[in-house]
Amino acid sequence: MTRYIFITGGVVSSLGKGLGSAALGALLQARGYKVRLCKLDPYLNVDPGTMSPFQHGEVYVTEDGAETDLDLGHYERFTGVPARKNDNITTGQVYTEVLTKERRGDYLGATIQVIPHITNEIKDFILEKEGTADFVLCEIGGTVGDIESLPFLEAIRQFGNEVGPERALFIHVTLLPYIPAAGELKTKPTQHSVKELMGYGIRPDILLCRADREIEDEERRKIGLFCNIPEKKVIPALDVSTIYEVPLAYHAEGLDVQVMDCFNINDDVELDLKVWDDIVARVKEPEGTVRIAVVGKYTNLADSYKSLNEALIHGGIANNVKVKLQFIEAELFESENVVDHLQGIHGILVPGGFGARGTEGKIKAVQFARERKIPYFGICLGMQMAIIEACRNLCGIEAATSSEFENDGREVGENVVGLMTEWESDLGKIKRARDTDLGGTMRLGAYPAKLSPGSLVSKIYGSEEISERHRHRYEVNINYKQALEENGCIFSGLSPDGELPEIVERADHPWFVGVQFHPELKSKPFDPHPLFVSFIKAADEQGRLV
Ligand code: GLN
Repeated sequence: MTRYIFITGGVVSSLGKGLGSAALGALLQARGYKVRLCKLDPYLNVDPGTMSPFQHGEVYVTEDGAETDLDLGHYERFTGVPARKNDNITTGQVYTEVLTKERRGDYLGATIQVIPHITNEIKDFILEKEGTADFVLCEIGGTVGDIESLPFLEAIRQFGNEVGPERALFIHVTLLPYIPAAGELKTKPTQHSVKELMGYGIRPDILLCRADREIEDEERRKIGLFCNIPEKKVIPALDVSTIYEVPLAYHAEGLDVQVMDCFNINDDVELDLKVWDDIVARVKEPEGTVRIAVVGKYTNLADSYKSLNEALIHGGIANNVKVKLQFIEAELFESENVVDHLQGIHGILVPGGFGARGTEGKIKAVQFARERKIPYFGICLGMQMAIIEACRNLCGIEAATSSEFENDGREVGENVVGLMTEWESDLGKIKRARDTDLGGTMRLGAYPAKLSPGSLVSKIYGSEEISERHRHRYEVNINYKQALEENGCIFSGLSPDGELPEIVERADHPWFVGVQFHPELKSKPFDPHPLFVSFIKAADEQGRLV
């Protein structure tokens, strides 16, 4: 029997509902259950693929090639369950589906309304998970009270009513703000938020109260009284120093036990959370520090490189070191001296990105890392930059560039990186045209690659066959392989048909790896990605030299 847990948020946004859901998922797994997590997003975009990472944070790519909300990354990092396309739905998708059916005549002339047509579509999305896990955790994006959330709240209310309280549970995440003048945490916003939720017909079973300091018993009693919830189900969710402490903290406050209690499950298990204890111990007590420069563009919003930041931390966990990240705006290098910004840096990473802005600076960063033999990790655009740098500075192709940048008004040059319009995949021949829509026209999701025997990357992976997730439109042109190889590049990873360069490394460098895919998407704290483990190790060794 599949049980459903709905997680809503109140008072303000950014309360860490996604993390909370992921952590609860991890706790249920530790109790021996199979979990599935999904997210219902109330915005109108069909997917976050075309949304700016400045505004919305990273776009998380699933194995099956969907561009989804970054919370799916949290789910996967905490539970290890690979996220799938149908784990995320947006209002845009729901309406697209309903309107397509309407145009097709599927509704037989009925008047199409939010209730029941939109709400039914949402319920179908939830119900489709039936049988795939013991617990399905559904996070509702946004904050209760937003106009956009209404159809989702109505849908989960109906759903809860249909399956009954033995199979549906509502958790509401709220905030208790601290008011210095009063010297206390305030419960009123929580009371109002619960009232609002009840107005939609949903009575939360558990409240998860975010606060920056301890919540006194008196306050818990008060919340319980006003919100009609037993005091022990008012659970403090205090700030912690590392996100990987969240499962431990929630368990200590009794979250998983209360969830079991709500469902009347008497599984008297002693939880083994050693994995999380070990991770937290390593994060909190590192033996050294490694300083990594991330030369990118979306450097002013921490969420825009969410998975990357986490994967670097995982690399640190594996090596018992703290990874200190220095985000450097790539454009700075175009006017200023690279050296000034990279003093005391042990490794340089150029992450994925789109558009021409900042690319000249990234190319300078690659050159600096290559010439000074500083560990370099280029991801997606970071690999393309490494190729352009080598073409320009080693192969004598001065006009080397990517056809992507012409669209941004850059001078037309020699496109050593270009748009691939046709390639083979498991799904058959995939075709793209220059003028197709921006949304959904990329090489997305997991693709296999073959690694050269004896290469650095095959040693790192311990395998010659890998599968990694992609999200890009342009590819390094294989026709430049020979020229680049004559100048120290090694094409150590290729698509199985040998047409698409997937990994380049350098023969004359201690650690120089560029990958066309996004390894950060698959890294987990309990299973750090081998490339990040190796990169941090190399950077740590570099640090010991200086
Ligand atoms: N802009 C590049 C492309 O589309 C790289 C994309 C990325 O880094 N994710 O190919």
